[in-house]
Amino acid sequence: MAHRETFYEVMRQHGITRRSFLKFCSLTAAGLGMGPEFAMKIAHALETKPRTPVIWLHGLECTCCTESFIRSGHPLASDVILSMISLDYDDTLMAAAGHQAEELLEQTIEKYDGNYILAVEGNPPLNEDGMYCIQGGQPFVEKLRHMADHCKAIIAWGSCASWGCVQAARPNPTRATPVHKVIRNKPIVKVPGCPPIAEVMTGVITYMIAFDALPELDRQGRPKMFYSQRLHDKCYRRPHFDAGQFVERFDDEGARKGYCLYKVGCKGPTTYNACSTLEWNDGLSWPVKSGHGCLGCAEDDFWDKGSFYSAVTNMKVMGSAEADADKVGKVLAGAAAIGVAAHAAASVVSHMSDKSRKEVRHD
Ligand code: SF4
Ligand code: SF4
Repeated sequence: MAHRETFYEVMRQHGITRRSFLKFCSLTAAGLGMGPEFAMKIAHALETKPRTPVIWLHGLECTCCTESFIRSGHPLASDVILSMISLDYDDTLMAAAGHQAEELLEQTIEKYDGNYILAVEGNPPLNEDGMYCIQGGQPFVEKLRHMADHCKAIIAWGSCASWGCVQAARPNPTRATPVHKVIRNKPIVKVPGCPPIAEVMTGVITYMIAFDALPELDRQGRPKMFYSQRLHDKCYRRPHFDAGQFVERFDDEGARKGYCLYKVGCKGPTTYNACSTLEWNDGLSWPVKSGHGCLGCAEDDFWDKGSFYSAVTNMKVMGSAEADADKVGKVLAGAAAIGVAAHAAASVVSHMSDKSRKEVRHD
């Protein structure tokens, strides 16, 4: 039986040194929120497991996911990953084109049937039998179904593949449809965002190829390691939200003081993504840090949820749905006061119980 190369062997062939390889493993472990022992597990897996091929398809989309991916904050990460995937098929990044490129797909199926990861950027339009996206003379939806039939798992890159995004916005004339509504018999990991953060993409794909398993997913199919918290939960402007201090206009005093952007439309309270923790461009900044609210690009249907500059009105605060931004401000100012009082009361109780515990010990 022919020897199947390990990832490590492929990386070495691409000129990546052992030192760079180990650094990549450490960066990936840190990006996944894991400790140094996990870096060694990644290294061991990549050194010993046969390489899993990745096929990367592009449907109806703008290519921003690929643009984000190849601009990973750690050039090392994109170099390493690209050395793994460019050997197979990516109709944006690879050198081959036309019939020669399409033949690579059949060769991959022949060689790795049931054993490759299918990464999908964009989505298939279903109207007019898929005629709104034709590749190699056939509707993209047919290519997607064909390649999905033979893969082991699918990564739906970005909000287009995960939810539909702008091309599926009302009235959706092409019937652009997210991947999970077309392919129902394969495990699918959704990595939403418009685009997703580069380090999230490299983290997810490395986890899957290193451990030959899906990362733990939430009930919407997103990796919990990157999508388990709202932006709002880790936002550095959160103290202003809690204190009821809001920007009312982009040029007002509150904007200059860095107050919360909720009233000018920030969707951080209802958006699950890693922007407020990982940030963008190698941790340089993110929209809220640049003075603009989150648009909620990682959430289903974000394009059809009303103006980007209107405040979220269905946010649960203290167990009740808020009607408007002013009410949020008042409730939160009140809640902050109650919180301070509750904290003071709790401290007294804790102090008292500490005191009584000591007294018990002294008895
Ligand atoms: S509403 Fe937006 S700006 Fe305000 S705390 Fe939440 S995420 Fe930050
Ligand atoms: S801040 Fe919001 S709109 Fe901007 S990239 Fe993150 S999730 Fe998307």
